[in-house]
Amino acid sequence: MFLKNTCMLLLLTVFLGIYPGSIDMCVRSGGSGIGGGNSGLGNGGTNTGSGSGSTGSESGGTNSGNGSGGTDSGSGDGSSGEGDQRCSDIGGVCQDDSGKCGGSYYSGKCSGGANNRCCTTTAIEKDTNDCSGVTIISRDSWGARRTKSSSSIKVPVLNIYIHHTVTGYCSSFSVCISRMKQIQNGHMDDTGYDDIGYSFLVGDDGKIYEGRGWGRVGSHTKGYNRKGFGISFIGNFMTLEPNTVALNAAKALIQCGINNGKISTSYYLYGHRDTKATKCPGDKLYDMIKLWPHYYHRIP
Ligand SMILES: [Zn+2]
Repeated sequence: MFLKNTCMLLLLTVFLGIYPGSIDMCVRSGGSGIGGGNSGLGNGGTNTGSGSGSTGSESGGTNSGNGSGGTDSGSGDGSSGEGDQRCSDIGGVCQDDSGKCGGSYYSGKCSGGANNRCCTTTAIEKDTNDCSGVTIISRDSWGARRTKSSSSIKVPVLNIYIHHTVTGYCSSFSVCISRMKQIQNGHMDDTGYDDIGYSFLVGDDGKIYEGRGWGRVGSHTKGYNRKGFGISFIGNFMTLEPNTVALNAAKALIQCGINNGKISTSYYLYGHRDTKATKCPGDKLYDMIKLWPHYYHRIP
């Protein structure tokens, strides 16, 4: 009310030519009053507008719309080829097979070179089918990293060397393959070998696990690697014996090697300790293999 009267008085004064310029003052004071309201609303509007809300969602939209990210990865998946889809269909990821894999490796399911293979999160038992009398779990099955060695061994070999791994035991597929990965990583990353050292390993689950296999020279019995295969029992057999299924699996492996022309029919069997000062393959296991046929107590 006071403002309105003041304004009218000023307007009248201006009209009468008594106080020129006061119209600005009137507008100003009035304006500033209304303006305060406006600016108050304005701020509110601005806040709403600058509206973390709208601006935020815009930038959010811009980012996602930046969709270049999404588009890139999308086109990436697309350009990686159909092979990669076959890998993801079995729960795997395509990767260079020199890397560690938690499950099994599969060939032929990824685009790119032969070394780009499908690694699954869960391992599946796969037999090499080399032997009818015993299961040999293939390297792919236990998720072996790609070997750096290509040195082939001359067969049939004359010698078999028995070892133990001095690791934990294993009596199931899942535990045995974790042992295999552990041993291979140790040999490649710590010892500096080209691959897991042994030719074959034996689990208390009664299965053979493929190491360097029938075709390549191993790193197990220094000075004698080119002359024979190294078969290692998974565990520490100083005071415990391997179980019967493990012992039978090792014997069946040797017989299979003979049948397939990989091991000489007149082979010699040794414990690692026969070749050097070592406790390997453990007192208990050593006492047992000394009773096996073809055991020969001498330096190979
Ligand atoms: Zn040994």
